[in-house]
Formats: sequence, C-alpha cells, structure tokens
Amino acid sequence: MSDVYFASRRCGPGSSLIDKTKKLIKKINFAAELREKDTVAIKLHFGEPELTTHLRPAFVRPFVEEIKKAKAHPFLTDASTIYAGPRSEGVSHACVAERNGFTLYSTGAPVVIADGIDGNNYVEVQVNTPHYDRVKVAGEAHRAKAMVVLSHFKGHEIFGFGGAVKNIAMGLASKQGKLSLHSTVTPYIKQKLCTACGRCVSWCAPGAIEIRGKTAVITGSKCTGCGHCIMVCPEKAAKIKWDIDFSQAQEKLAEYAFGIVKPKKGKIWYFNFLIDITPECDCYTFSDASLVHDIGILASRDPVSIDSASYELVKKAAPNPRSKASAAKPGQDKFTEGYPDTNPGPMFKMAEKIGLGRRRYKLIEIE
Ligand code: SF4
Ligand code: SF4
Repeated sequence: MSDVYFASRRCGPGSSLIDKTKKLIKKINFAAELREKDTVAIKLHFGEPELTTHLRPAFVRPFVEEIKKAKAHPFLTDASTIYAGPRSEGVSHACVAERNGFTLYSTGAPVVIADGIDGNNYVEVQVNTPHYDRVKVAGEAHRAKAMVVLSHFKGHEIFGFGGAVKNIAMGLASKQGKLSLHSTVTPYIKQKLCTACGRCVSWCAPGAIEIRGKTAVITGSKCTGCGHCIMVCPEKAAKIKWDIDFSQAQEKLAEYAFGIVKPKKGKIWYFNFLIDITPECDCYTFSDASLVHDIGILASRDPVSIDSASYELVKKAAPNPRSKASAAKPGQDKFTEGYPDTNPGPMFKMAEKIGLGRRRYKLIEIE
C-alpha cells in the first residue's frame, strides 16, 4: 500500500490551489533527492490550440522553483504525437506550448521536446514484460536524471482515464511506441480522403507506401510503424487503426510506463490534478463539460496508487448533470458513460503484475 496525499479543491484566503500545490510538494519532498545540476524533466501535456482545460501554467511554477532551490535544472517536456496536428513535430509542438502559456516567463523553465524535432530521438529500454522485450522512450525524458509528472486527470476513449500512468507511457513513448500502444502498428489510408499527392511516399523510409491509381496504399509487411505518414498527410487520410483489443492496449500502457520508470527508480514523483475532469483527453481542440465537480490535487511516489485513488474519487463524486456522465450515479464509473468499453482493470492488473506500483493506497488529506 502506498501513501497518496490529497488536497481538496476548496480554497480560502491563504489556501489557494497554488498554496496547496506547494504543501503537497513539501510532503513528497523530492528536492531532498536531487543533486546539484541534475536535469529534471517536468512531464506534462501542453494542450492543443483551443483546448481550454489542460493543466494551467501557474501550477507548474512551484515545481520549477523547488527544483531550482536544489540547484538542479528543470525543463518542461512532452513528446510529439502520431496524429497529424501542430504537436506532431518538435518545432510546432514547442510553439503550441508557448501559445498555451508555458513560457520561460510564466513557469521559469524552458520547453524541450523530448523526442526531438522529427520524433527520431528515442532510446530503447529493456523491460521483458509480457508484450515487449524493449520499449522506445523519448530520448531527453530518458536522459533526464529525475522526473516530476504533472497529470491532468480526465477521461480517455481507449484507456478509460488519463492519469499518471498514461501521461508517462503514451506521452513519452516514441512515435513507433505510440503506434504500438494505439493500434496494430501499420496505419491505413482512408481512400476517400486521399488525393494521391505522394507526400507520405517521400516520408516513408522503408518504402511501404505507393500510389496506386487515385490513392496511396500501404504494404503492411514493409511498414515499421514510424507514424510519419500520419504526421505529414495534409488530408488526414493516413489513420490509426482503432480496432485493437482494448484490454491489450491497456496492458501495453502499463508496460510502457514501466520502461519510463525503471531507469529512474526513486527519482520520479507524481501529481494528479483532478480539475476540469473532461470525458476526453487533451489531444482534442475542444473541451467538453467536466464529468464531475473539481476534486483537488493528489501527490504520490507510486503512479498506480495515485491513479487508483484518483479514479475512486471520481467514481464517488456526484455526476455533473450537464455532462456526458449525467445519467451516472455516485459510485459508478463516470468515464464509461461516454466510452462503455473502457474498464481500466487490465491496466491496473498488469501494472501490479510487473511491479509498476500498487493499486491499494492510503489517502492522507492535507489542509
Ligand atoms: S500524404 Fe495523404 S493525401 Fe497524400 S498520398 Fe499520402 S495519404 Fe494520400
Ligand atoms: S508508419 Fe512509417 S513505415 Fe509505416 S507506412 Fe507510415 S511512414 Fe511508412
């Protein structure tokens, strides 16, 4: 059983959410374990343009200040996406972060995109878990000496919810890793969107794509799952296959998280923000109404315990009557209201099996 510290959403004079964030930082006391000049990755999701419910930059600054007090070097990070969009390559990803307020001025730390400008900066980590021998981790995240994981807790259409485990696993997997987590690795071309422009062909290093008549066609046996065709297609015709068994995707998620955590034993800490608990993840350009009211902030050294506690707190909360979970009852899973196949049980089970963390937790509320 791991300790999970909890600060409720209620605030008053002298007890703002920023004050409470600072108290949680003191409880976890990660600065005591940092050495001078340690590079410390602060992993978060910068949000898409026009998303309004990603983690606010104001929450990040106390972490940066704490790391700097230890004379260590913080940087804000995430890895690029496999879907086409402004976060699919390093330069425009950094611009989105800036546009959404994650500036040196507001947070005190620079943004470094963890897998480089073209998504090819990754390191293979040996895990020997049921689905993988090795996982491919964004290079700068792997090289950082320590990591603070800040997660906006919300729903997800495959994984049930997005918390600490998903933030590090999907967030810091390389493009090939993300494809492997999301799909059956080889993308497909939606023919009615394809204009046969050939752009994907020139980006496909193993020559898996050719133009046949009026459309591009992928030969699965040649595809290495790099995700570049998805990134470069101007028509969004290159798509991820979503037909993978959800349970397997969840198990793989835990295994990828294990590949991030394993080399950082004792030097990775987790903070979940149960604020704006939207039904979908932060990879969309819209924010639907929260499923439940804002709950607060949690902190732990165990990614599984913190997600387990966060999930239970959302389950217990009354549903927002003007949200996707309007028909749910307190105690019922709010996330399955929109996505009924997303029971997160397989992720938790695999996470415990491979030693990522423990589902049982002790919730300790702080004032
Ligand atoms: S880049 Fe997109 S539109 Fe162009 S050929 Fe490839 S799949 Fe078709
Ligand atoms: S994922 Fe990579 S290797 Fe596979 S078809 Fe697309 S560009 Fe080619």
